Amino acid sequence: MAQTPHPRSNVSAIPTYVPGKPPTPRPGLTTFKLSSNENPYPPLPGVVEAATRAAGAMNRYPDMGNAELYAALAESLGVPVDDLAAATGSVALIYQLVGAFCDPGDEVVHAWRSFEAYPIAITAAAATSVKVPVLPDGRHDLDAMAAAVTDRTRIVLVCTPNNPTGPAVTQSELDAFLAKVPSHVLVVVDEAYVEFVRMVDAVDGLATYRSHDNVVLTRTFSKAYGLAGFRVGYAVAPAPIAAALRAVSLPFGVSSVAQAAAVASLAATDELFERVDALVTERDRVVAGVRAAGWEIPDAQGNFVWFELGGRTADFAAAADELGIVVRPFAGEGARVSIGEPEGNDRVIELARSFRP
Ligand code: PMP
Repeated sequence: MAQTPHPRSNVSAIPTYVPGKPPTPRPGLTTFKLSSNENPYPPLPGVVEAATRAAGAMNRYPDMGNAELYAALAESLGVPVDDLAAATGSVALIYQLVGAFCDPGDEVVHAWRSFEAYPIAITAAAATSVKVPVLPDGRHDLDAMAAAVTDRTRIVLVCTPNNPTGPAVTQSELDAFLAKVPSHVLVVVDEAYVEFVRMVDAVDGLATYRSHDNVVLTRTFSKAYGLAGFRVGYAVAPAPIAAALRAVSLPFGVSSVAQAAAVASLAATDELFERVDALVTERDRVVAGVRAAGWEIPDAQGNFVWFELGGRTADFAAAADELGIVVRPFAGEGARVSIGEPEGNDRVIELARSFRP
């Protein structure tokens, strides 16, 4: 019998990523996609112009060194260029971190439920995903996560705010956690939604990275900056870690248009953050409306809210669909609903009123 090529055994164990679906078209009804935590605002004209200009040179490879982007990020964050690593979305950085720091069988500790790409990236690297259940209110159980660290642990992923449950980690919780975790373990603080956080005692990622040699921040242009379609994320890390991330990165992983759009977006931060403020106001309005309808939902610090639904998840998603909104169901657990246009958010409140807790 001829032998056929076969992938490593871990490959068949990689969980499937379920992307948020588009809404079902409903004649006479505007529909809203609230399934992927996207920014509902269209791009700023200046950002479109910068991307269009860059597209004019599409026959050339992008700057592999991301020089302009690093310079703009270094300036806006107040960090050295050597501490930055950009990638094809911050999800790529999770892959790169696991690829650069884990041997097969090494362990990566993370909360669960949390960002669904974590076990995918970890399993793809033949490392082991160690899932620590979130607390009943959707917060990370950092005591249990510290207790889950073993001799094989190379990375702990802390997602704040946590996708999909919503709460953010406090600085004192993170400090207590960091004091317990050995310094050779990398602590990755996934700040994909950091710009939406309004909790006063939330983690200050930049201050924490500055005071620890084992702390890495991952951030993205997909959410607050509204560039999800262009795929740009970045890590802020102590220089040797950032260098390792750049070393394992896909060559030319951030396209010219993506680099140009990200640089233009950083220049327009004030205007973009006014939109973020409006989304935060909408988020708080949705949380209040949903709670007033009798739901106990977790604190929401990102651009989404979480409904714990157990066996009623599919029914909830179907009821949403009837109202012209598409949510992101997690079978048997609950549904995450992104904050979108005010009319879509009104429908979320309407859904909370009609679908009883
Ligand atoms: N981290 C978290 C917690 C996320 O929710 C997401 C996107 N859903 C990402 C990282 C990845 O974002 P991107 O790859 O678009 O930068």
